[in-house]
Amino acid sequence: MKIDVLTLFPAMFAGPLDESIIKRARKKGLLDLNVHDLRGWAHDRHKTVDDRPFGGGPGMLMKPGPIFEAVETLRREATRVILLSPAGRKFDQNIARELAEQTDLLLVTGHYEGFDERVRIALADDELSIGDYVLTNGALPAMVVIDAVTRLLPGVLGDDESSRDESFSHGMLEYPQYTRPAEFRGMKAPDVLVSGNHAEIEKWRREQARVRTAERRPDLLKPTTKDNL
Ligand code: SAM
Repeated sequence: MKIDVLTLFPAMFAGPLDESIIKRARKKGLLDLNVHDLRGWAHDRHKTVDDRPFGGGPGMLMKPGPIFEAVETLRREATRVILLSPAGRKFDQNIARELAEQTDLLLVTGHYEGFDERVRIALADDELSIGDYVLTNGALPAMVVIDAVTRLLPGVLGDDESSRDESFSHGMLEYPQYTRPAEFRGMKAPDVLVSGNHAEIEKWRREQARVRTAERRPDLLKPTTKDNL
């Protein structure tokens, strides 16, 4: 998968995406990540990318010009252009799966008070929020999306790191897990897990996942409108 990112802060991407599983995915060529400095498409002496909002109000807005030029340069036939914005649909594991099916993503990140509305209207195929809070700019949201999507690409996770049974993969949270020692500071791992009885272990895990989800995230268990049809 190819992911391009448009940002005012390319340096923020060094580090988080140069470690561990994402680093390996990039090395193997499973993720082709290109981070672009939006100021490269600003043509005045000061590389201006923002301006005051019409109608007044606090802060500055990202100007449409540099973003339009950048997107039109980077976008290819198959590219899905995604705006990162608190007003977008809320990113979750289903959306991560949906994006992992794509071949080209272009993540457009904002700063200041956000984007001129015409960016949204004319350029965005999708608009994503990573949660109901406001961050200073879209670099962290873009990295969240890149990480969540990349680990779902075929060949990125090894067997030990499989995404098959983890939280949200069956619309539920993951069951509790234990490793050695079987008893630690007086706390014992459940007998069933050390029993070697795989059918019983599977049953226990399914039940624990259901109980945990019901306690902590009952919203995940609610039937969706689609299921009711
Ligand atoms: N004025 C905007 C509003 O009230 O919705 C907030 C702009 S925010 C300070 C600057 C940029 O950070 C946004 O354009 C977006 O790219 C990014 N951002 C901040 N919070 C975000 C979130 N929860 N999800 C996705 N992007 C976010």
